[in-house]
Amino acid sequence: MTDQIRQDELDELYMRRAIALAKQAGELDEVPVGAIIVCRGEVIATAYNTRERDKCATSHAELRAIEAACSALGGWRLPDSTLYVTLEPCAMCAGAILHARLDRVVFGAPDPKAGAFGSVLDLNVVPLNHKCAVSGGVLAEECGGILSDYFRQKREMQKRKKDNERKSIQLFGGPVDAPGRSHQRRSGQSSELPRMR
Ligand SMILES: [Zn+2]
Repeated sequence: MTDQIRQDELDELYMRRAIALAKQAGELDEVPVGAIIVCRGEVIATAYNTRERDKCATSHAELRAIEAACSALGGWRLPDSTLYVTLEPCAMCAGAILHARLDRVVFGAPDPKAGAFGSVLDLNVVPLNHKCAVSGGVLAEECGGILSDYFRQKREMQKRKKDNERKSIQLFGGPVDAPGRSHQRRSGQSSELPRMR
């Protein structure tokens, strides 16, 4: 019982490190997911999602953490290691986790759209040659909150951008067929309007 309490406390402690990494990703306008790998009580890898920066579909936090951990340990197997990640791993990352022979995965928020450790599918129950212990829902609200805040801000920014574009059209462009305008736009010139990035 005491061991379980201690393990729960440790899980929350390490998940907070992963949450801090997720926030770093969000500040760089990446989908905020953070991951760390702990081997025998030592943090051997930290990473966050860098898909936009790398322009690469595989730059998920978990894969980047696994790559860093393999470099740190000098091999492709990651024995006695636990991966902490703020969002339930997708099928690609769950596959890599099993290939890397990780002992355990602890994730925060479940991912009902792509989660591969119980939400959409459970890669751990198919007859592969390795299984890992999985604990989900650790600080789930906090982990999920970072993601929903990020996507809400993105939607608000997109709405502001559209509103500004609409205002620019009203101020400088006007409708293409507005009667009595001396500088009518030809169709296809809308790309010259000010753009918000
Ligand atoms: Zn993934």
